Amino acid sequence: MADGVALIAPSGAEWVHLDVMDGCFVPNISFGPKMVADIRPHSSQIFDVHLMIRSPLNFVEEFAKAGADYITFHVEAAVHSHRVLQAIRALGKKAGIGIVPSTPVSFIEPLLPFVDLVLVMTVNPGYGGQPIIPECFDKVRSLAALREAGKGDYLISVDGGINESTAAVARDAGADVLVAGSSFFGATDKAALVRRLKGLS
Ligand code: ZN
Repeated sequence: MADGVALIAPSGAEWVHLDVMDGCFVPNISFGPKMVADIRPHSSQIFDVHLMIRSPLNFVEEFAKAGADYITFHVEAAVHSHRVLQAIRALGKKAGIGIVPSTPVSFIEPLLPFVDLVLVMTVNPGYGGQPIIPECFDKVRSLAALREAGKGDYLISVDGGINESTAAVARDAGADVLVAGSSFFGATDKAALVRRLKGLS
């Protein structure tokens, strides 16, 4: 993990996105707060922790202590999302809400004034390397329009299937943060890839 994280800053990519999976909310298991704490000394970049876990309220404090800067949980995994958002902010962290491909933007509209980031999953969470579901970009457009209309002040993050061909669509739709896993770690020239993902070359 430390070796992988060490590749990120020199590439020009700005954040470290960490996918936490519990084998219950998503059909895969990755790691918990201990891993986040263990790699924290290896990077001074923003840690963008994406919780794909049930009952996120029980764990936000541990991830905050582990060194997360952003903590994003899924609206589908929490009954009382406002409370989770408040808990994250009370810990001094940026609060994010995530939606899976089948959840409409309208479902999180009441939460938009209380979030720092909205994460739109463009694949069904659980595994890397899946093809993108293009309809999800409509949700990015809707979120950008809602922000424009003053419904909140949040970053729009797109997670899943981001590569050289999908990044431009995500940027054009209004995404601010592009999460790249398979395309990044599979690229020989990571700096060139990051420039292209950002639309700089
Ligand atoms: Zn993620």
